[in-house]
Amino acid sequence: MAAPDRPGRAGASLSRVSGRGSVADDEPAMVRPTVPEADELIGVRHPVLSHGFVALVDYMGNDAAIVQAARVSYGKGTKSVRDDRALLRYLMRHRHTTPFEMVEYKFLVRMPIYVARQFVRHRTASINEYSARYSIVPDEYEIPPVEEVRQQSTRNRQGRGDALPKEVVDKFRADLERISQESYRDYTAALTAGVARETARLLLPVAYYTQWYWKSNLHNLFHFLSLRLDPNAQEEIRLFAVEMAKIGRVVAPIAFEAFEEFQLSSLTLSRREQRAVRLLLEGQTAEAACAAAGLPLVREDGQRMKTGEGVEFLEKLEDLRSPD
Ligand SMILES: Cc1cc2nc3c(=O)[nH]c(=O)nc-3n(C[C@H](O)[C@H](O)[C@H](O)COP(=O)(O)OP(=O)(O)OC[C@H]3O[C@@H](n4cnc5c(N)ncnc54)[C@H](O)[C@@H]3O)c2cc1C
Repeated sequence: MAAPDRPGRAGASLSRVSGRGSVADDEPAMVRPTVPEADELIGVRHPVLSHGFVALVDYMGNDAAIVQAARVSYGKGTKSVRDDRALLRYLMRHRHTTPFEMVEYKFLVRMPIYVARQFVRHRTASINEYSARYSIVPDEYEIPPVEEVRQQSTRNRQGRGDALPKEVVDKFRADLERISQESYRDYTAALTAGVARETARLLLPVAYYTQWYWKSNLHNLFHFLSLRLDPNAQEEIRLFAVEMAKIGRVVAPIAFEAFEEFQLSSLTLSRREQRAVRLLLEGQTAEAACAAAGLPLVREDGQRMKTGEGVEFLEKLEDLRSPD
């Protein structure tokens, strides 16, 4: 794990960089912060899915850069690593977010087009995509592994649920393989016949791969990760988010620790949920507390609800009961 930048650097003398004009001794040193462990990661491809990967192309800043930016707001602070950690945790707890924007990441990501469509929803990232107008799309497509071809979830309308019979899984995977191969054959034939690359690509399904540079600051990366590491996110983009989090953590480990503590693993309680918690603390059962707090668990026809605020509240209680 990368160590934070050298303690004291943020307050070091500027004599090394002084040129024209005067620089005060107590101003921040103009030294580019680097993290040796992150430097070693640059260009290393972290495989995801069958043909995808995430690679760190470049980064700017580290934990110390966040601390240094915050000290512009708060004035000179203490400089020990322990105090840096306390400051970063304070910033995260109190949603003082701009210091986290001082750290930037540039990733090269290769993913299926259906995953790229989810990535692209994160508007705060800067993206530059491989152009299928200029270049020929490689013959690489995603066939989900057997265990990922499952039933439609009954709880989450967007998710997958229980296992399917083997013959259904096998047929789906064989169909996807066949359609992908046929599409690529037709794509190649269209190119050979002179159809422009920008038009021929219409023949390719969303299982085909694309790739892009994806640049984001740490504040927005945290937002992306909080949405895409969530169990409700589609498994494929989650796998990319996991790799991006692993790489991101090397650059700014203390900020990531604070993110995990105060964002990723935190629990929010709505006003009704707080009312229900108060009733639970007074000794009421969960069912009674939910009913009194306006968190319904039963439909008008007497059927037990599978989704909704009441069900989600009980899930939160369950999460609280289960160990980390
Ligand atoms: C589990 C899951 C399911 C989803 N399902 C669907 C779906 O079915 N259909 C669908 O279309 N999308 C879906 N999405 C995408 C989702 O609605 C968001 O578009 C996506 O998560 C990006 O979130 P964001 O806008 O907060 O992030 P970003 O675009 O990165 O924006 C970050 C923050 O910047 C601010 N911001 C950025 N741009 C604007 C703007 N133009 N106006 C106001 N504020 C802005 C907002 O505060 C925003 O939270 C889903 C996402 C998840 C995680």
